[in-house]
Amino acid sequence: MLDADFFRRWMFATTVAVDHEAARLTELDSAIGDADHGSNLQRGFAAVSQILEQESPDTPGGVLTLAGRQLISKVGGASGPLYGTLLRRTGKALGDAAEVSEADLAAALRAGVDAVAALGGAAPGDKTMLDALVPAVDALDGGDLAAARTAAEHGAEATTPLQARRGRASYLGPRSIGHQDPGATSAALLIGALAETAEG
Ligand code: ADP
Ligand code: MG
Ligand code: MG
Repeated sequence: MLDADFFRRWMFATTVAVDHEAARLTELDSAIGDADHGSNLQRGFAAVSQILEQESPDTPGGVLTLAGRQLISKVGGASGPLYGTLLRRTGKALGDAAEVSEADLAAALRAGVDAVAALGGAAPGDKTMLDALVPAVDALDGGDLAAARTAAEHGAEATTPLQARRGRASYLGPRSIGHQDPGATSAALLIGALAETAEG
């Protein structure tokens, strides 16, 4: 079973991963966007870690809804509301249980990913974060976090030949082809941090 502390550690691990990869995320966003994805997420997750140090929600749902709210309020770019919605909706789906199972987490993340699709109007294949998130939640249904991480990484890499149909990169039309999507890349970091946290 996964408790609030597990979810706090997931958010801290994501903050570390985003810090570590910020330059790469910004470089990817400079090719098909406005070169701010690394700094957007660095600022957002630093704020998430900070508020989780100050307040200690005692349920998994409480941790993720607080993290999501923080991202929405601190990140101006498209990714703030989208990741914020992902975490908030996932947190809501976990309810107020003190501990949740991996199956509960898989179902809740599915609800979170569906909310991202509803908010942004994107589908898999549009060259967005969903290209990493959807394969990850599909793999997570099998209960395997390591498989979810691999699926997210493969999904992110598979965005390279795609033409962007949502977000800022879509303004480039066919010129968006040949570059890996920054948001799919950061989504793989989020899922990778989850697998890493479960491995302890
Ligand atoms: P901005 O584009 O506002 O500068 P970021 O650079 O932080 O925001 O984030 C860009 C990423 O957000 C993209 O690489 C893409 O993965 C994701 N994104 C943008 N629009 C959408 C959307 N409508 N649905 C899902 N993801 C999106
Ligand atoms: Mg950007
Ligand atoms: Mg921007």
